Parts: sequence; structure tokens; C-alpha cells
Amino acid sequence: MRRRMIAGLMLAASLVAGSASAQTFPSRQITLVVPFSAGGPTDTLARILAERMTRSLGQTVIVENTTGAAGTLGVARVVRSAPDGYTIGIGHWSTHVVNPAIYPLKFDILEDLEPLAYIATNPQLLVARKDLPPTDLKSLIDYVKANPDKVTAGTAGVGAASHISGLYFEQKIGAKVRFIPYRGAGPAMQDLMAGQIDIMFDQAANSIPQVQAGKIKAFAVTSKQRLKSMPDIPTVDQAGLPGLYISVWHGLWAPKGTPKDVAAKLSAAIIESIADPQVREKFAGLGQEIPEPSQQTAAGLRAYHESELKLWTPLIKAAGIKIE
Ligand code: ASP
Repeated sequence: MRRRMIAGLMLAASLVAGSASAQTFPSRQITLVVPFSAGGPTDTLARILAERMTRSLGQTVIVENTTGAAGTLGVARVVRSAPDGYTIGIGHWSTHVVNPAIYPLKFDILEDLEPLAYIATNPQLLVARKDLPPTDLKSLIDYVKANPDKVTAGTAGVGAASHISGLYFEQKIGAKVRFIPYRGAGPAMQDLMAGQIDIMFDQAANSIPQVQAGKIKAFAVTSKQRLKSMPDIPTVDQAGLPGLYISVWHGLWAPKGTPKDVAAKLSAAIIESIADPQVREKFAGLGQEIPEPSQQTAAGLRAYHESELKLWTPLIKAAGIKIE
């Protein structure tokens, strides 16, 4: 009886704490963990969002870059954080779908995270340093074939989207490149612009500003349609690598156990942010497509995430990608 009473009191206390936390949440700064380097595509997206979420939530959302192992360290940092809504994380197709198939993770990517929102999807651009001899995709393929294992390709780590796209490319053309891993596509881009590496499969968001500034050149976009913001770049189908489609979708998650009402406040702030015309314009300029409203929700993200895991896990496992 006494034990039951204590249990009842504890339950009542936690319910009060739960609703009180939602009423006062957020009462301090929120950390948004980006699992790649500053200046890269995920970081750029996170910073646009953090700025707008700060306005919705009335508290500063700061971006923290926890890098390494193709984003697995940053995702682990979110999983292990206190589930109070003050630490959340952004991730994408490779951190939340590819990595669980190739890294020995100590957590469950679906069960140890609370989905918040699905925010955008972005194709890749195949880009090269400005003075690389090939001038289009067909001549690049010939060049890679004529220089096996020599053409250097920057990646954001083993299993990162940039790496998986490169492997897909190798498989399609039947020749190898030399992958150079970085802690994110941000520093890889710096080296591409400086002429230190030859090519990169990069999220359009990261490359578009540099292509527009004439600092690098683009050979193709890895989607069925051309980018609205850069219609001069041909699709892979048009340029000579039919079917090499890879798009990198991004979502946000909180640690498992985050009070439902706190998670709901965060989801609402994210969804409000991506409905803002200024945010939409910035995303569009970077080739980021915002999903339909029904897909943006926590439930929409969970359903999409599950379907992507089902689709890709067997394919990635079959590819036998090794962590060096
Ligand atoms: N998302 C990575 C970054 O922001 C790039 C990648 O996955 O290839 O650097």
C-alpha cells in the first residue's frame, strides 16, 4: 500500500514536472549539434535554421560542431545528452541511414532518438577543381579511366554522402579514384578550391556558391531534374551517367526520453522556421527542397527514416564498405 502510494506520488510529481517543463521551456540556450565541420552543407543548413528557431523559441539556438567518423561522433553526442530539449541534433541520409549499416554504433538509430522534423533534401553536384583538364562529365570519365587510382576525391569521411556517391560513380564507370577523407565537406571544399584535390561529390548546397563564384566547376547534378537555381548544370542522365541519383535529406532529432510536450515545441519551431519565406528562399538558392507539410512532422520523419533504412541497409551492407 505504502509502496503504491509512493509510486503514485512519484508519478504525480513527474507529470507536474513534465507540464511545468513544457510551460517554461525553453528557459535557456539550446545547442544544435552538427556532426560535420563548420562551413559545410549540414552546418549551413543548421545555421539558417538556428537563427530562425531562435526567433520562434525566444532563446538562442547555438550550433556546435562535433565532428569525426563521418558524423557518428556527433550523433552519439546527441544520443547521450540529457533528454531535456536543450541538446538536439541535425543529421542526414548518411549519418542516420548509411552509418548504422557500416559503423559498430553503440546505440539504435531509431529507438534511441526522438524524431523532430524532416526539413530538406538536396542532390549532389559532381564538382572539380577549376584547372582539372576535363571540361565535361564524359571527358572526366575518360580521364579517371586513363589515370586509375590517381584522381583524388574529397569526402566527409568513410560512409559520408560524398563517399557513397563516389563509390557509386566508381562502380558505374568501372574505374577507381583515390578518396581523401575530411571531417566534413567544408574543409574538403577549401582544398578543392585551393587545387589540392581533384573532384568531389558534394551536396549542391555547399558547391553552388563556389560554382557561381567561378572557384570550381560542376559537371552534373545527381538527380532527374536540373537545379532551379543553376539550370546550366546538366543532370547525370543528360551528361552521360544515367541513373546516378543520390539526394541527401536532412532531419532533426532529440535524445530518446525528451518530454513529449518539449519535443512538440521544438518540432513546431522547426516547422514554423521552414515555412518562413526568407528561409525558403535561402534553401531554394542552395538547391534544398522542402518536403510536403505532412512529411515535415515528427511522425513524417520517423516513417521516412524507417523506409530509407529498409531500402538502403541491405544495399550498403552488400557494398562491403570498410572503415579504414
Ligand atoms: N554532410 C557532410 C558535411 O556537412 C557532407 C557529406 O555527408 O558528404 O560536411
